[in-house]
Amino acid sequence: MGIIRKLDAALVNQIAAGEVIDRPASVVKELVENALDAGAHRVSVEIEAGGRNLIRVSDDGGGIAPDDLPLALAPHATSKIRSADDLFAVRTLGFRGEALASIAAISHLTLVSRVRGTPEGASLEVRGGACGAVQAAGAAEGTVAEVRNLFFNVPVRRGFLRSVSVEYAHIAETMTRFALAHPAVRFELRHDGKLEFALPPAEDPRPRIARFYGEDLAKALLVARAADPPFSFTAWIAPPAFTRPNLQGQYVFLGGRFIRDKSISHALREAYRELVMEGRHPVAFLYLDLPPSEVDVNVHPTKIEVRFRNGWRLHDRVVEVLRAELMRADLIPKIPVADRPPPPAFDPARVQGAIFDFFSRSGGVGAAATAPAPPSPSLPAAGSDPGPGGLPAPGSGPENPATPAVQAAVPPPRRWQVHGRYLVEELPDGIAVIDQHALHERVRLEAIRRQWERDAIVRQRLLVPAVVELTPRELARLEESRPALESFGIEWEDFGEHTVVVRTVPDFLRDEDPVRLLRDYLAQVAETTDRPEATGGSERAAAGLVDAILHFLACRSAVKAGESLAPAEIDALLAERDRLELAATCAHGRPVALKLTLSDLERYFKRT
Ligand code: ADP
Ligand code: MG
Repeated sequence: MGIIRKLDAALVNQIAAGEVIDRPASVVKELVENALDAGAHRVSVEIEAGGRNLIRVSDDGGGIAPDDLPLALAPHATSKIRSADDLFAVRTLGFRGEALASIAAISHLTLVSRVRGTPEGASLEVRGGACGAVQAAGAAEGTVAEVRNLFFNVPVRRGFLRSVSVEYAHIAETMTRFALAHPAVRFELRHDGKLEFALPPAEDPRPRIARFYGEDLAKALLVARAADPPFSFTAWIAPPAFTRPNLQGQYVFLGGRFIRDKSISHALREAYRELVMEGRHPVAFLYLDLPPSEVDVNVHPTKIEVRFRNGWRLHDRVVEVLRAELMRADLIPKIPVADRPPPPAFDPARVQGAIFDFFSRSGGVGAAATAPAPPSPSLPAAGSDPGPGGLPAPGSGPENPATPAVQAAVPPPRRWQVHGRYLVEELPDGIAVIDQHALHERVRLEAIRRQWERDAIVRQRLLVPAVVELTPRELARLEESRPALESFGIEWEDFGEHTVVVRTVPDFLRDEDPVRLLRDYLAQVAETTDRPEATGGSERAAAGLVDAILHFLACRSAVKAGESLAPAEIDALLAERDRLELAATCAHGRPVALKLTLSDLERYFKRT
């Protein structure tokens, strides 16, 4: 009466497939790896509907002999290794003989192939693991693998697929990695009939880095090399002025394979230490060329993680060589200038403007400092919107009739700015320490929300439109946010295959670098939120995106830590807090203020 039974082969394959193939991009990855292993000089990828309907990878590699076609599709069948020893000398991208069998188990797969130098090709079709017969077929030299109806027999997986653009973004990123890893191979990518890119072969990765990361960055790249065995590598590294807010500008390749490795990421961070600000990350492309005996690639089903025999020595060598190149390039003195805006100088007109700004937006001119004004949000007329950081440019305040606000800001309680980032306030019953950025961010959040709700965000048309070069993945993500970003006054036009031109920004961010604004938006918001389209346009996801954009813009337009504030600016900020009765947390959920009552202090100093 046993209850244990052996699973049938088809089910075993389906389960195994789950490990390697979790979305269309993994099919693209496996098929392109096979093409590269076959020695292709040209790899062309066509997909439809983000890969749900069709993925076709064609190559001009060595091809598969007709007799081998059924074997190519069988599980654990490979031409790449023969013995366990080979495992530690792997020079191909694949070797587990799993990919085609896995894909065949969960899709309609057709292989058409002709071995180089033979007169005729052959084809083979498999549907959900059921294999047809090998048939003679006219074909070009090389192989075409065509995958239709992915996950047709795994409804759960199909249900987990995201929108076309999200799946496409993953595929685009996969292709970007291959293109960077194999500059000598020609790559083409077509989506729904549109040519997304066609990359001619190149001697080194620089032209492709230019294509995906912009000419400026590519031109500025430094090249650091280590040639002493066993650790040889070449690193194409951007000067610290080209930082990104996440790790997506960092690519590590090992023998033509994109890998992720914590110790290498750490090495990159170390190499740029003190050259980039906290929270920013350098852009770097590292090509490791280690003997196979130094690495175990068989530790992860998709081989994105590997194990190094001498991980820490490699780490130290990377730090040493990259650091030396950065030092040689003498970049250090330029960093603070490039990355850190200088604190604004004291300017009475600017201060008056600031006061006007806070009070006019609150609608409670003159009353705010003494009593909380009723919440009567009167929006600024077009053109009187606050400048960057809510502190308008000199001259925008004085000619306004609302300047009496200055008198209202005369402080009864005393307050100071300390260390350029905190405000200390004397309260009737104690003291408060306030994070100036966190507080202003809350204030800005409410202000921008009110404007947005009334569709009253003033747009600033850029005099010099900003050209932003994006990776295919970034482009796809940006497109998803288009309606939401437009409602906040950020408008752009497509300009060539991978470039957009920013036309307008919200007026309150008019002094920001629009290129950086867009890039940071992509890294901080687009990559982290559920996109409306991704979840079938649900209202909740749409609201989530709007909310994320609000937070992002509030943060960007708030005064930063390190900006010195004039006394009147401090008063205005605190008055706004009183008026809004702001929650005690900043827009990101961090606390805004710390309050110590007199009795807290007395207890602490043991006076009671
Ligand atoms: P692996 O790549 O790990 O060997 P796969 O299941 O991906 O396993 O492929 C099985 C075999 O089919 C490969 O070892 C190779 O011999 C053959 N093959 C697959 N794709 C191609 C291709 N595009 N060109 C030539 N041979 C291929
Ligand atoms: Mg393979």
